[in-house]
Amino acid sequence: GIIKDLSDLEKLSVLGHGNGGTVYKVYHNSSRSFYALKVLRLNENDLGIRKPATLEAEILKRVDSPYIVRCHAVFENGYSNNNDGDKGGDIRFVMEYMEGGSLHDVLREHHRLPEEVICVLARRVLEGLGYLHGMNIVHRDIKPSNLLVNEKGEVKIADFGVSHVVEGRFEGNEYDAGTCAYMSPERIDPERWGGENADEFAGDVWSMGVVMLECLLGYFPLIGAGQRADWATLMCAICFGEKLEMPEKASPEFQNFVRRCLEKNWRKRATVLELLHHPFLTPKFRCS
Ligand code: ADP
Ligand code: MG
Repeated sequence: GIIKDLSDLEKLSVLGHGNGGTVYKVYHNSSRSFYALKVLRLNENDLGIRKPATLEAEILKRVDSPYIVRCHAVFENGYSNNNDGDKGGDIRFVMEYMEGGSLHDVLREHHRLPEEVICVLARRVLEGLGYLHGMNIVHRDIKPSNLLVNEKGEVKIADFGVSHVVEGRFEGNEYDAGTCAYMSPERIDPERWGGENADEFAGDVWSMGVVMLECLLGYFPLIGAGQRADWATLMCAICFGEKLEMPEKASPEFQNFVRRCLEKNWRKRATVLELLHHPFLTPKFRCS
């Protein structure tokens, strides 16, 4: 790899905070280019983080796809030059820098996206999921803040940390911060929806459907706009909600695409392969 030494990286700013970690924008002096550095603290007492962090490193080392945010180097526990009095050590990922931030940031700025943009986005996410599923990797945390955009406007899948379920902490329409809002019915309520033997890949398809609908609506789609929801309300909406909020102007292709993703019964839900051939993604429609 091009990055051999962390000391050659200069921290510039914080790009994001998340579960047990911080992502920095860094400058690599030798190559004169920018990268993103994700630092996951490994606290001895916090075994809950240790395993996913190691798994995240394993996955990132293996994946190599234009639809997945590239990881150029992983430094595990190796770097102890922090003076924070922090004994736990850490794992550091040097990743390609995605200038456009996350889809969460994009939605906050533009509120909603046109179908022409959404179908390009959907195609890329599906290609990424197809690649991951082909490697037996289930992402399990597809949501706007984990889909990153580069300066060319290309979307890529990021964040392979297994999601930690944070219950009942929803503020306004900000569903996208360590929530289960994008989780499929069979993961939320395995007993009712046959989750025990569910095809885990179907969960990623569900989440992607929620994200695509959110892009067109401009707000989290499974409960009413601006409505505050506790965990129970959200769970009911995901598992039992009958009506899908759909913009009137939405094309039939888009509507069908989203309905195929948001099929509650995972056995009937579309697969990644089926969706890649869906009319919504064909050039005949307007997705080129
Ligand atoms: P977490 O596990 O804490 O959610 P993420 O990998 O999702 O960590 O990163 C958190 C946030 O940091 C992202 O939502 C995004 O805003 C920013 N970020 C992460 N990686 C990058 C990157 N490679 N380029 C630009 N911003 C990034
Ligand atoms: Mg994340």
